[in-house]
Amino acid sequence: MNILVINAGSSSLKYQLLNPETGVLLAKGLCERIGIDGKFTYKAEGKETLDAVDVAMPTHSEAIQAVLNALVDAKNGVIGSMKEIDAVGHRVVHGGEAFNQSVLITDEVMKALEDCIPLAPLHNPANITGINACTAVMGKDVPQVAVFDTAFHQTMPPKAYMYALPYAYYEEDKVRRYGFHGTSHKYVAGRAAAMLGKPAEQLKLISCHLGNGSSVTAIDGGRSVDTSMGFTPLAGLPMGTRSGDLDAGILQYVMNKQGLNIDQMLDVLNKKSGVQGVSGVSSDFRDLENAFKDGNQRAGLAVDMFNYGVKKLIGAYAAAMGGVDAIIFTAGVGENSASQRLAIAGGLEFMGVKMDAEANNVRGRETVISAADSQVKVLLIPTNEELMIAVDTAALAKG
Ligand code: AMP
Repeated sequence: MNILVINAGSSSLKYQLLNPETGVLLAKGLCERIGIDGKFTYKAEGKETLDAVDVAMPTHSEAIQAVLNALVDAKNGVIGSMKEIDAVGHRVVHGGEAFNQSVLITDEVMKALEDCIPLAPLHNPANITGINACTAVMGKDVPQVAVFDTAFHQTMPPKAYMYALPYAYYEEDKVRRYGFHGTSHKYVAGRAAAMLGKPAEQLKLISCHLGNGSSVTAIDGGRSVDTSMGFTPLAGLPMGTRSGDLDAGILQYVMNKQGLNIDQMLDVLNKKSGVQGVSGVSSDFRDLENAFKDGNQRAGLAVDMFNYGVKKLIGAYAAAMGGVDAIIFTAGVGENSASQRLAIAGGLEFMGVKMDAEANNVRGRETVISAADSQVKVLLIPTNEELMIAVDTAALAKG
């Protein structure tokens, strides 16, 4: 079975063709500058790589057509015809309260996705455009599935997802914690259960998805019970350029002081804050590590603040679940930075976490990084959101 996985942004579209049963990735790439001029990238094992070549893409439909052309290309392609694509899985950022799992796309589902636009005005319209483009180019007979970043967190109890605001904001305006990165947290939780040889139902896990965007999730019995992102992906940890949680009173104070309106303030919180804002150096953790080595104290402070934030969430979620069996590190920082993993999970011996510095000295592969006698296992698990999307899509397409 071949599943085409699509992650559509407003002017870009990432794609992968993969087999969810074997996990084999046949081809992947990226369409960029859609609506501007169009750049196309394509990579497949043993085939010629196309790197940002010019392909006219006035709309997402031409982008999808370019993907299909490349996949079936006589010389460079990986399938004989479009008929070998069994279904398409779309990453959709926000499913609101309407979707607690992946869903086969129908006209009714499209309507519900439109209803979620106010909750994710930057992301959902692009996801919808991607779905419409696939329908236009591939027809209605190829099943399409929406896989939501928010769905996995719909199991949170009200005490975890409610904000202490007037209740009408929740009832009338849907203001609540939704959480994001759900596909990644679900994937690594499934892998953790496999690595530990126990059913997910018997495990208490804390999943740390640490990348440019970061979130930590408490997963009890296979269900998300709390997560650090909130109504939007701005909440929780300080991130590359996002502030994470802060005292809302700061907004009025800074807006008055700096003469900012609310849009400008939100722009600062989303794009000029986080480790970039604190360090003044970069949003990239590798740059911060290098800058700190060169004596930049603020770069060190930014990384310390981030690590400290993750450590506090681990403590909070262990308390919330009444224990933890395993802590998972995933995404760019979680998979690659041994020093940050050690800074985060070190010093937690009081709660049964004992790191193995040598075992931790790895990157990018599934492995146990805690000591053999650590009561709580610490796992490094590379995330694979595309595979998770393909697995969900295949299951729904098979009916
Ligand atoms: P992601 O959003 O998951 O792609 O993660 C991107 C982040 O991972 C960037 O901040 C990178 O600097 C960070 N990252 C990647 N490799 C490393 C590394 N070797 N050490 C520290 N951070 C890394």
